[in-house]
Amino acid sequence: MSPRCDLSGLEICRDPYVTVLTGAGVSAESGVPTFRGENGLWKSYRAEELATPGAFARDPVLVWEWYDWRRQVCAGTNPNAAHHAIAQLDRGLSRFLLVTQNVDGLHARAGSKSIVELHGSIFRARCTGCGRLDEDLPVPLEAIPPMCDCGAPLRPDVVWFGEGLPEEALAKAFEASRSCDLMLVVGSSAVVQPAASIPLLAKQAGSSVIEINPDATPITPFVDMHLEGKAAEILPTLVNQIL
Ligand code: NAD
Ligand code: ZN
Repeated sequence: MSPRCDLSGLEICRDPYVTVLTGAGVSAESGVPTFRGENGLWKSYRAEELATPGAFARDPVLVWEWYDWRRQVCAGTNPNAAHHAIAQLDRGLSRFLLVTQNVDGLHARAGSKSIVELHGSIFRARCTGCGRLDEDLPVPLEAIPPMCDCGAPLRPDVVWFGEGLPEEALAKAFEASRSCDLMLVVGSSAVVQPAASIPLLAKQAGSSVIEINPDATPITPFVDMHLEGKAAEILPTLVNQIL
């Protein structure tokens, strides 16, 4: 047993209800850049300048070029050991929910079934006119911006800075946070809401909270255990101890 993953102090029950909250860090080892990490820039733009409704209104071509690049990056990567370990929890426990802030589709590709996507998916587009969803756009795109049959441009079906989160997804995430026995917070800088509040809600409701991150975050002082390191290295051992 790795001493870094010794859960004996937490008294976790058999077949616990586990909620996992993931951020961009869980996909870092697959080669998907995080926004705030070293490789987070695209043509010297910061994500905060591109992932906004204002940026799309000003320059939909620029925003779509960035998403086209990100779609190609994600399509060229594979789930890593952390995604697979989380999918193993999904299969092995009676009650489980994965709440992800990621838009890269890697959790589903690893086989996770119970997923709540808080920030949508870059592999889905939504019509700005009629609201139709489209999951079949080619990678790379053939036309930028892609257009709907109704004549309006499509936009990425993701939540941009300044936009609200999908209510149903958020309600499910909060409900799981209040009910679970154990929450794992993996690769989230916990500065973007609601990632910052979901673990604290779980803690208040009596759940044990374990954070897996190479760095300390604003929630580190409040969690029961901070496992310092990379998700793909820590999660397989951790999951073996839970199952
Ligand atoms: P974030 O706020 O979730 O921060 C990334 C966190 O991951 C940091 O705390 C970092 O220390 C940690 N980390 C880095 N490498 C790690 C590893 N190997 N194992 C575990 N943790 C690791 O993400 P962000 O990049 O600041 O972006 C904010 C939001 O932007 C996300 O919540 C997401 O919606 C979106 N985003 C998604 C993706 C994706 O889908 N893969 C990528 C970038 C950004
Ligand atoms: Zn339309």
